[in-house]
Amino acid sequence: MSGIRDYQAVVGEQLIEEIHDLARELKGCRVQHINSTFIGGGVAEILKRLVPMMQEAGLEVRWDVIKGSEEFYRVTKTFHNAFHGVPVQISPGMLDTYRWISRENYDLVDPRADFVILHDQQPLGLAEIRPDHPGRWLWYCHIDPVDVDQTVWNFLSPWAGRCDAAIYHIPAYARNLGHRQYFMPPAIDPLAEKNREVSPGEVASVMERLGIPVDLPLVVQISRFDRLKDPLGVIQVFRLVRREVPCRLVLAGGGATDDPEGIQVLQEVHQEAANDPDIFILELPPTSNLEINVLQRVAAVVIQKSVREGFGLTVTEAMWKSRPVVASPVGGITVQLIHGETGLAAATSEEMARAVVMILRDPALGEKLGQNAREHVKKNFTLPIYLKRWLELLKTEQGYPYGQKPDLAEMPVVAEVTTGPGSAS
Ligand code: UDP
Repeated sequence: MSGIRDYQAVVGEQLIEEIHDLARELKGCRVQHINSTFIGGGVAEILKRLVPMMQEAGLEVRWDVIKGSEEFYRVTKTFHNAFHGVPVQISPGMLDTYRWISRENYDLVDPRADFVILHDQQPLGLAEIRPDHPGRWLWYCHIDPVDVDQTVWNFLSPWAGRCDAAIYHIPAYARNLGHRQYFMPPAIDPLAEKNREVSPGEVASVMERLGIPVDLPLVVQISRFDRLKDPLGVIQVFRLVRREVPCRLVLAGGGATDDPEGIQVLQEVHQEAANDPDIFILELPPTSNLEINVLQRVAAVVIQKSVREGFGLTVTEAMWKSRPVVASPVGGITVQLIHGETGLAAATSEEMARAVVMILRDPALGEKLGQNAREHVKKNFTLPIYLKRWLELLKTEQGYPYGQKPDLAEMPVVAEVTTGPGSAS
């Protein structure tokens, strides 16, 4: 696994020095990350690399996962959908399940942690014990809460409000909970198996193993099989594109242990594809990092047709690989994809199909968007930058007296995304 110094070639010496300076001040600080899965989805992807990097920086970091029943994950998936504006039915029994499982997990909290970081809504119930804990608690909201269902929000937000601060990916997500707020988009690890450079030989052998011919341009979406990623809409877009330009579609994704809906959605996708020989539906095991890397690299166009998107790391990954991306302008995608510069935004299937066709017909456009995309990611969304932002955030938090509520007019902001390719600090 890569160490902090290995990233110097990507982000430059100065940033690495800044990380070391900050890390010295935080040495020995105990940090506990808590989420709901080690496997699948963006949060696990982030923690897999952030945790070892923080440890290497000299902090005492642990990562724990709350243990829930199948029923609990059905409830939290419903909450997840409710955050994203999907109409849901919430019964008193569901709320009881959530309270009950939260209580059963109280012991998971490290009583000596200086910082307890609750990722997303699944572990929020643990904040019940925040008043009895000596550390600072942060709620990291990775999803878009703008249209959250009111019942779900009324139930969960008192716990979020018990935390000392909330972290949101983008300012548009901020909710007024009477505590401090930080804005910090996540990042990808450019040196990880999923994002490292690959040789032409590796590309050829992976594509052969996956059984996908490369004689026609490939349109690719990599995502969990989740309705919010609109895989059926992707097929619709592909069929519109194929009328204009011969091409094939790859829809690839696996599940997450905290997402019980994936199997059903996958069935719907197979039905919609109806054995179309130009549509490749791949079920990826959690170890498929090289496969995802290669698929993103061979794509003529990467699409991300999400209905909602907390951030959209799949977009970041493709942009890092200098691929032209066409995506819905939703949630965190809006700070990544600057229309016409770092990719093309498309709000409907028809628009998306037109944008894909435009790129397939104009390789120079794809090339330009791809290059800008890589620069934008390099400046804003790579792991060392993210680590530095984390260290700054923890240091800022330490500066506040324990339990102090903030003056809302003076919210600290640790991370601003510099828009425009190549224009960042
Ligand atoms: N991912 C993966 N295998 C899959 C599907 C997705 O490893 O089958 C990864 C993907 O490469 C990305 C993350 O999971 O790093 C998904 O994060 P994103 O923010 O795009 O969406 P989320 O799943 O969190 O909604």
